[in-house]
Amino acid sequence: MQRTQVGIIGSGPSGLLLSQLLERAGIESVVLERRSRDYVLGRVRAGVIEQGVVAILREAGVAARLDREGLVHHGVEIAVGEQRQRIDFASHTASLVVYGQTELTKDLMEARAASSAPLFEVEDVVVEGIEGTRPRLRYRHLGTEHALDCDFIAGCDGFHGVSRKAIPANVLKTHERVYPFGWLGVLADAPPVSPELVYARHERGFALCSMRSATRSRCYVQCALDADLAKWSDARFWDELRARLPTALAAGLQDAPSLEKSIAPLRSFVAEPLRHGRLFLAGDAAHIVPPTGAKGLNLAVRDVHQLAQAFVAHYSERRDHLLDGYSATALRRIWRAERFSAWLTSVLHRFPGQTSFDRGMQLAELDQLVNSAAARAAFVEAYTGSQP
Ligand SMILES: Cc1cc2nc3c(=O)[nH]c(=O)nc-3n(C[C@H](O)[C@H](O)[C@H](O)COP(=O)(O)OP(=O)(O)OC[C@H]3O[C@@H](n4cnc5c(N)ncnc54)[C@H](O)[C@@H]3O)c2cc1C
Repeated sequence: MQRTQVGIIGSGPSGLLLSQLLERAGIESVVLERRSRDYVLGRVRAGVIEQGVVAILREAGVAARLDREGLVHHGVEIAVGEQRQRIDFASHTASLVVYGQTELTKDLMEARAASSAPLFEVEDVVVEGIEGTRPRLRYRHLGTEHALDCDFIAGCDGFHGVSRKAIPANVLKTHERVYPFGWLGVLADAPPVSPELVYARHERGFALCSMRSATRSRCYVQCALDADLAKWSDARFWDELRARLPTALAAGLQDAPSLEKSIAPLRSFVAEPLRHGRLFLAGDAAHIVPPTGAKGLNLAVRDVHQLAQAFVAHYSERRDHLLDGYSATALRRIWRAERFSAWLTSVLHRFPGQTSFDRGMQLAELDQLVNSAAARAAFVEAYTGSQP
């Protein structure tokens, strides 16, 4: 029988970072991951990181490369048809850093490999005994059954993981909105069309021009939920993106072969409570936001930072007030990010069956956003995560 203080399910950003923060505080953990190391490292996902989250990554000792290579942004562009408006963060003393989740995962993996690497390709993880004082994780690895006794279990296993399902149905409440469209994303070695992110609302549907570096673009177009990836050649993708951008911007867009191309559905989801007995949920296991607000990764990092502080208080001060308050405190922050992400999604996308009144509302919201100083300040607070 193995033993650890905190058993962590999942080696996405939340599981890896939690394990890293705990180790720096002298708390032992074991990370169990069902996929291979290469699979986890190959996933292309988020890329926009809040300053407060950068500070947490520095505290964890994993921000050296991010500080060297991350692109600091002081503004974002909103395009509505041919109209382009820049929202300046600097006047609100906020900023964001563009650095791919893939790179962050690599940095976290390297930090963990130096001491206690996750156990990859673990099968059939079962969560047991969370209502008692000795929770246990059972799993199979290389054909052999194992059991890991823990003081606590952290469910960092994403939306489709097992941890949330371990909370009894009469305790767990879930809140969900599924959007009637998806995002088709392409990663390509083409210089970004603009030095800052461009969010475009267009009659053909939403588009986003983002980037991973000065030479690598990450771009998206809103697509049907049942869109067939095989029917989206690279040429069709770039033509569709060009059609949704203001003419001057579209003229500068360079086509390049896709390095990765995928369709992601959009969902808003919150589970509560985030604690049941000795099980704690963090990151995508606890909540999902549509990617429009760039909040998914940022929320995950803030969750595990809060959780790590709660474990530190438990082990070094014998105080459980932070563990007891974890769910309520995190949920307040999570619901605010949910609100922002759902709102931004609702004003920028074309919804099936949208009426001319709905369209008028969207345009009025965006008009208010770009032309009211108060609305811009509220947007910058929420988008950069700098709200109190
Ligand atoms: C396709 C896609 C695109 C995205 N794009 C953006 C974006 O542009 N901007 C943004 O902010 N956010 C984006 N996100 C969200 C962001 O990537 C997530 O919020 C972030 O990855 C959350 O990290 P996590 O560690 O909580 O979960 P995950 O990254 O999902 O990690 C969970 C880990 O747990 C493992 N796991 C699952 N079940 C088990 C099990 N039973 N046993 C063991 N291990 C298990 C999984 O293999 C995975 O490695 C995107 C997400 C997806 C899926």
